[in-house]
Amino acid sequence: MESAILTGRPLSPADVLRWTCPHDRLAGRGCVTCYQASADADPALPLWDVAVWFTIPGPIPIRALQDVHRHGRRFTLDQPSTPLIYLLSGQTRAGSGAEAVAGVAGFLLQNRHIVQEFTVTEIRAIHS
Ligand SMILES: [Zn+2]
Repeated sequence: MESAILTGRPLSPADVLRWTCPHDRLAGRGCVTCYQASADADPALPLWDVAVWFTIPGPIPIRALQDVHRHGRRFTLDQPSTPLIYLLSGQTRAGSGAEAVAGVAGFLLQNRHIVQEFTVTEIRAIHS
């Protein structure tokens, strides 16, 4: 399992390297290119269980939450018990944990009608 907490203190240089996708984006910020690549990823690539926790300035309307299931293919957006913290999770194929997380978080970038602004607080990628 690879995971990182992104709030509180900056990532170490080693973690920055580990969590930067091939397009030079930090996985927690999301990468639209990784997201699009994950749509038809090579089936030979490893499968990852990804979890991305994020906060937003205000609550996501129920309708937008439901929308995730329509647009989100295999992703799920849940609201754990803590207010204004959401969990986006799903399975994706990618060459590394960083790409897997960047692709899942990229879903949020690609779907601004769901969340306009978000801050990722924690990321996790498990090689399944
Ligand atoms: Zn990328």
